[in-house]
Amino acid sequence: MAQIISGKALSAAIKERATQQAVRLRGQGIVPCLAVILVGDDPASAVYVRGKEKDCAECGIESRMIRMPADTTQDALLAELAQLAADDSVHGILVQLPLPSQIDERAVIEAIPPQKDVDGFTPVNVGRMMIGEECFLPCTPAGCIEMLKSTGLPIAGKKAVVLGRSNIVGKPAAMLLLREDATVTICHSRTEGLAQICAEADILVAAIGKSNFVTGEMIKPGAVVIDVGINRDETGKLCGDVDFAAASEKAAAITPVPGGVGLMTRAMLLVNTIQAAVRQTGAKI
Ligand code: NDP
Repeated sequence: MAQIISGKALSAAIKERATQQAVRLRGQGIVPCLAVILVGDDPASAVYVRGKEKDCAECGIESRMIRMPADTTQDALLAELAQLAADDSVHGILVQLPLPSQIDERAVIEAIPPQKDVDGFTPVNVGRMMIGEECFLPCTPAGCIEMLKSTGLPIAGKKAVVLGRSNIVGKPAAMLLLREDATVTICHSRTEGLAQICAEADILVAAIGKSNFVTGEMIKPGAVVIDVGINRDETGKLCGDVDFAAASEKAAAITPVPGGVGLMTRAMLLVNTIQAAVRQTGAKI
C-alpha cells in the first residue's frame, strides 16, 4: 500500500510557521494583510473565500474581504483594484476566479501589481517563474512540489508527467518540476497514447478535472501520484482525477482527495502573503 501524503499534516506545519512569522511581523509594527475580491454569488467561490478568511484569521494575517455584486462592471472592479494597489497596508491582492462573463479576466489579473500578486497569476510573476527569478509561485503547483518533497523520494532525473495544461495548474506544475530537474511531459486533451505515457511516469500530477480518470493500469509501480482534481463522483462524493483505491495499490505515495492538494493550496497562499509583506516592508522574519 502506498504512503498517504497528508495535506492536513503538511499544511498544518506550514500554517504554524506562517503564524510565527506573522507574530514577528506584528512585533515590527507590520500587520500582514490580504485583500480578496469576490464578484458575484458563485457558491463554490464563496466557500473558497470563506476558507481564505478563516485561514488568515488563524494565522494572524488580516484579511479584507471585498464582496461585489454579480453585475459589477469591469471599470468598477479595476477601480477597486487600483485603490488596493495604492494602499500600503494591503500586501497581497487576490481576485477570486471565475469572474462574471462581462469582465475580462486577463485584464483584471494584469491590473494586480506583481509585488502584491499572491496567486502568482500575473504575466510578470509567470515570466519570473519561467526564468527562475524571485516571484510568487502559484499556490496549487507550489503545494504539489511541497507534497512531493515531503516524501523524501528523488525528483531530479525522474520522469514526471503532468496531466492538464491550464495556466493555473498544469503549465506551472510542469515548470516547477523542471526547476527540480525532473524530465517533464505535459499531456492534454489532444495527447495520443496518454495511458502509456502515464504508465511510465515516476511522478504523476493529475490536473484535468475528471473523476477517476487515472486508472490503476496507468500507474507505474512505485510512482508518486499527486491528485489535484476536485470533482464529484456519480454519488455526489468529492473525488480526485485518480482512482485512489486502485492507484494506492501500485504507487509508492499518493495524495488523497479531500485532504490533499486543496489544503496545500490554501496554506501556500498564506506563505505568499507573508512573503509579500516581507518584501514590501523590508522586515525580517
Ligand atoms: P482546466 O479545465 O482549466 O484544465 C483542464 C486540463 O485538462 C486542460 O489542459 C485539458 O486539456 C485537460 N483535459 C481535459 N480533459 C482531458 C482528457 N480527457 N484527456 C487529457 N487531458 C484532458 O482545469 P484546472 O487546471 O483549472 O483544474 C483541473 C482540476 O484541478 C479540476 O478538477 C479543478 O477543480 C482542480 N483544482 C484543484 C485545485 C486544488 O487546490 N486542489 C486548484 C485548482 C484546480 P486541453 O488544454 O487540451 O483542453
